[in-house]
Amino acid sequence: LSMHIGKPCDPIVSVGDKVQVGQPIADTDALFSAPIHASVSGTVKAIINNAIVAGGKKTKLIEIESDGQMTTWNGLQVPIIKSRENYIDSIRQSGLVGLGGAGFPTSVKFNVNQKIDFLIANGAECEPYNSSDFYTLKYRSIELLDGIKASMHWLNVKKAIIFIEDNKMEAVKILQKILAEKSDVYNNIQIMVVPSMYPRGAEKIVIQMATGRIVPEGKLPVNVNVIVPNVTTLAETGRYLKTGMPLVNRVITVDGNAIKKPQNVLAPIGTEIYEILKFCELDEDSVDMVIMGGPMMGISVNDIKAPLIKMNNAILALTKEESGSHLETECIRCARCIQACPMNLSPTVMYHAIKINDMEHAEKLHVMSCIECGSCSYACPAKIPLVHWFREAKNVIHNQGGKK
Ligand code: SF4
Ligand code: SF4
Repeated sequence: LSMHIGKPCDPIVSVGDKVQVGQPIADTDALFSAPIHASVSGTVKAIINNAIVAGGKKTKLIEIESDGQMTTWNGLQVPIIKSRENYIDSIRQSGLVGLGGAGFPTSVKFNVNQKIDFLIANGAECEPYNSSDFYTLKYRSIELLDGIKASMHWLNVKKAIIFIEDNKMEAVKILQKILAEKSDVYNNIQIMVVPSMYPRGAEKIVIQMATGRIVPEGKLPVNVNVIVPNVTTLAETGRYLKTGMPLVNRVITVDGNAIKKPQNVLAPIGTEIYEILKFCELDEDSVDMVIMGGPMMGISVNDIKAPLIKMNNAILALTKEESGSHLETECIRCARCIQACPMNLSPTVMYHAIKINDMEHAEKLHVMSCIECGSCSYACPAKIPLVHWFREAKNVIHNQGGKK
């Protein structure tokens, strides 16, 4: 029940209840949150308190035994929107969160007091392997444009930019054609094509390239009057506004050399990761590591029986050669990590501070500005998982009341 940034949801169903697809099963009053809906029809079999999900995080889990019917909940309604408040409330009811991996509740992202100058639809999916956003750009263009259009209208945003890397020209051409043919329907939406380079999709980098504005350390895009939803989140917005079906499925990339049939898969949220891997023909003899998300920013999965959650955009089953897990050695102070860092940080110095638990020094070195892009880990010849150290340190500093 922890599928977003913020307080996890609490169950609103009990063991033995019958549920149907799209029915709310968990929610909370917390501001930073999004409800969770049944993705299959069936019976609530168990509510487990300390289930372990990806990254080793413990949370509550509702186990539903599917009846195989996928019966739609009869309480579903296409949202009728008459005001900005209706719109934000409907987006919350849809259960939408940032589907690019962040899990930021979409209704919270949209519910801002500041005037918004730009909505940037982030289609810069720059992690190697991942292609679920490319799938959206190419095959769900109308839903994406509908989601952008509705968000511009209700949030009073005059200009939208679809931000795409130049390795996705097929999708660019499709979108350009629709925008040219339907300029009366989709206006003030521009496509910005940028050279493909990691970590191009990081929010602060996207904003700087698209608008020239710099988000200060510890601040959010809204502080520079910009919002940056991911393209798949916007396509889900467009789909939800037409159908009323909340977020119950998502497309994920399944890849890695231990997968015989790599592909993008549409799966019900909550499906066991192992089932998805088997569907794509996992080679159980060669798999060394399973990662949720991309190889640079992803989190290793301790238990492949864990469920798929909303913000998982990829599952990678890597062989030993790909994961490099057996190769880690001592830091040789070569400074390659410093050259690789797009935020001009000193990863090696931060790493040595964190290793001796000197969080004060790490904070002074601006570890909180780390965007967790993983470029330093990738560049490191000693194969030190630097980004994992920084992620942990940020959590510790945040919990101690430091900057976020
Ligand atoms: S790249 Fe790796 S080995 Fe080189 S200085 Fe950075 S942490 Fe040390
Ligand atoms: S993960 Fe490494 S390269 Fe990326 S921002 Fe953080 S310190 Fe810099």
